[in-house]
Amino acid sequence: MEREHIVVVGAGQAAASLAMRLRNGGYSGPLTLVGDEPHPPYQRPPLSKLYLKREWTVDRLYLRPVEFWAGLGVALVTGRTVTAIDPAARTLQLDGGAMAWSKLALATGTRPRPLPPEFARLDGVFELRGLADADRLQGEIRPGRRLLVLGGGYVGLETAAVAVKAGLSVTVVERASRILERVACAETSDLIRALHAGHGVRVLEGRSVAQVEAQDGAVAAVTLDDGSHIAVDAVLVGIGVLPRDELARAAGIACDNGIVVDAHGRTGVPGVWAAGDCAAFPLAGISTRLESVQNAVDQAECAADDMLGRPRAYAPVPWFWSDQYDVKLQIVGLNRGYDAVVHRRSGHGYSLWYFRDGRMIAVDAINDARTYMAARKMLESGLALSHAEVSREGFDPVARMRQAGA
Ligand code: NAP
Repeated sequence: MEREHIVVVGAGQAAASLAMRLRNGGYSGPLTLVGDEPHPPYQRPPLSKLYLKREWTVDRLYLRPVEFWAGLGVALVTGRTVTAIDPAARTLQLDGGAMAWSKLALATGTRPRPLPPEFARLDGVFELRGLADADRLQGEIRPGRRLLVLGGGYVGLETAAVAVKAGLSVTVVERASRILERVACAETSDLIRALHAGHGVRVLEGRSVAQVEAQDGAVAAVTLDDGSHIAVDAVLVGIGVLPRDELARAAGIACDNGIVVDAHGRTGVPGVWAAGDCAAFPLAGISTRLESVQNAVDQAECAADDMLGRPRAYAPVPWFWSDQYDVKLQIVGLNRGYDAVVHRRSGHGYSLWYFRDGRMIAVDAINDARTYMAARKMLESGLALSHAEVSREGFDPVARMRQAGA
């Protein structure tokens, strides 16, 4: 008889959540997490915030102390790379050996998009995905240095905020017509752009790098497509990520912008599940891949439940956050397909309400945690307010949420 052994490929947030859920759900057999970084599961969000600022040390990043995993009976195999999986034989290859499994979960996450070729192999060019990247970048966060940030997404903007506060001169170059274009409306981009400008960050949108100059193998200057020349000491590239789905592809598991799973986290191959940033799942009938802590935790727990024989469909109301300076941006819902936005100001901050066909689908809250919580409760309870109601003078989201009993 096949020996029971659940193996999780990956040791990030999704892998950790999956393992804890399996144990809390009553699975007492062998359980192994394999990760290629030399660390137990850790939180990535602080890498571009508190950790980069040196306000947090490595041990605070760890989701649980190392001993916790042993106490839970989880074998943590770190610093090792899975090179192949064989769903027919139910084995996987590790650098330095093979491992048998009875059920497999892929929680392989994402990797940064490849560096633009003109920056490859130059010193002074950084990415920010893992702890080792953050350690390298920390060395550049010194007053007086000139930092170019390529990409105006969360990685780029959070790093720009830390760097300018630390006394660097910072320029952000975003190829799209505005920063945060992938995730937010123009009004949110405007507020965040103004925030950065107020702190002295130069934000250049709709521009790209045409040429790079190096000196002694290190980046020294860039020329943009409009001809402007910027001397730099370092470049942070934050131009997005790609799902790590190559193991699944090679094993014949369907992939399409991530490892394709159903609402239970099952891949197309029996005995193999996937969860977190690497997995594309159906949400409201659309294949969806979310890059967020909420998704890593909740989808992994759903997959674990399915592995335990307790299937339930994963149908999240996604949420995200970003900290830049003293501003907290909180987002709930997915704004895809929005056709209208209502901008509201409260005593505490701002909120942007997204609508599709007159019904609320998402909210961005900027320094407005009360509105964020109210909107989140409303969306989670299925209450989608109308455009007319949110636009009305005196509209109070918290009172409305309470009235609805959400
Ligand atoms: P991102 O949010 O996808 O943003 C990358 C930005 O760079 C996009 O606007 C992209 O524009 C732009 N870009 C692409 N190629 C470029 C080029 N050659 N020159 C200039 N700009 C270019 O990705 P990210 O900021 O790198 O973040 C990586 C991952 O970490 C994401 O999953 C993100 O959600 C996550 N993260 C989240 C947080 C948070 O939630 N607070 C914080 C840090 C990281 P196009 O869309 O036109 O390609």
